[in-house]
Amino acid sequence: MDTISKELFEAAKQHIPGGVNSPVRAFRAVGRTPRFIASAHGSRITDADGNEMIDYVCSWGPGILGHAHPGVIEKVTEACKDGLTFGAPTRREVELAKLIAELMPSMEMSRLVNSGTEAVMSAIRLARGYTGRDKIIKFKGCYHGHSDGLLVKAGSGALTSSIPDSAGVPADYTRNTLVALYNDKASVEELFSANPDRIAAVIVEPVAANMGVVLPAPGFLSFLRDITVKYGALLIFDEVITGFRLSLGGAQEYYHVTPDLTTLGKIAGGGMPIGVYGGRREIMELVSPIGPVYQAGTLSGNPVATAAGLQTLRILKEDPGIYQRIEKKTERLADAVREAAEGRVCVNQAGSLLSVFFSEAGVTDYESATASDTDRYAAYFGSLLDRGIYVAPSQFEAMFVSDAHTDADIEFTCQVIKEVL
Ligand SMILES: *Cc1c(COP(=O)(O)O)cnc(C)c1O
Repeated sequence: MDTISKELFEAAKQHIPGGVNSPVRAFRAVGRTPRFIASAHGSRITDADGNEMIDYVCSWGPGILGHAHPGVIEKVTEACKDGLTFGAPTRREVELAKLIAELMPSMEMSRLVNSGTEAVMSAIRLARGYTGRDKIIKFKGCYHGHSDGLLVKAGSGALTSSIPDSAGVPADYTRNTLVALYNDKASVEELFSANPDRIAAVIVEPVAANMGVVLPAPGFLSFLRDITVKYGALLIFDEVITGFRLSLGGAQEYYHVTPDLTTLGKIAGGGMPIGVYGGRREIMELVSPIGPVYQAGTLSGNPVATAAGLQTLRILKEDPGIYQRIEKKTERLADAVREAAEGRVCVNQAGSLLSVFFSEAGVTDYESATASDTDRYAAYFGSLLDRGIYVAPSQFEAMFVSDAHTDADIEFTCQVIKEVL
């Protein structure tokens, strides 16, 4: 059933560390062999052995329209024929920046890069350049890509400095990263009062989706808005997942809280590598070549990637009913899980993002998320996979629903979930 995937994985391990180009793909957390994917269309993904599965990973978020959407493929194909990269400005970059500003009014100006990691790294440099301050606050359990300064573990107390969470990151690089607790206002207040004029920015996933889906408590995001204003720090929303996912205007529209800077990725590239950072004109005008904050990229604003991103956003804009449709389908899944599990799991949902935590208590932060029973998740994952349902191979990732998931897909998935739980 997965003979070819197993062969490919053995071969991959010879030349690629762990056989994968991004760690979570290795299925280590669930003790299985990763499926090597041959193709995907709509809601279905097909592996190298020919198994077709209903896909709820959606490439970790970009696939809001489903795989290989004909309208997107057409624009990408057209773009390819005109050349893959020029290292010079192109029309679609202007159109994409303009459309982003229209859909997310806080992003008056934006800069295209090639990944979410790069977008966040650049936004933080900009926040430091703008405020002339060095320290930033991030939240335990929020993921912002793999740049040095963001791979931190919290120290033992809120006031001790954080320590690197990866080998190869000098302690000096994480000294300026302070770690607060998600949904815990007091932990943020404490850091600000200990460092009143030294914090450049607070960066947050407005809906945390990298410790599983964890919703912001009512008032938490507006509290962050107020306290950053009070201390002259910038508020950065890392909307790499939530941007164009929770609504056309992202989490900032969904929760009515406006950040100073926003980072995007995933859906913004429509399946191609794109990251974006942007915000108020006055801040963005500090970026090179007109300002002193240096940032550059050989392939940034790539013509093929911008074709995919632009067409994806245009489709979403022309059919905003997508958001109600995918939210309804996700609610249907959430209800089915709750019904079948009878209180033995915690289901967190925001829009088309869903997590099933194997925990009887509510999950509101990193501590409660990591209290989940990952062995039970692994068993659940394996049973779904064997029945043709492809969900994230880790308890601490979201399930993504796309516009391509049909009602029949959802009903089938609900049946399987009932059986499995
Ligand atoms: C995926 C993700 C990133 C990193 O994006 P890459 O394109 O993987 O570098 C950053 N922030 C959040 C919230 C993400 O989900």
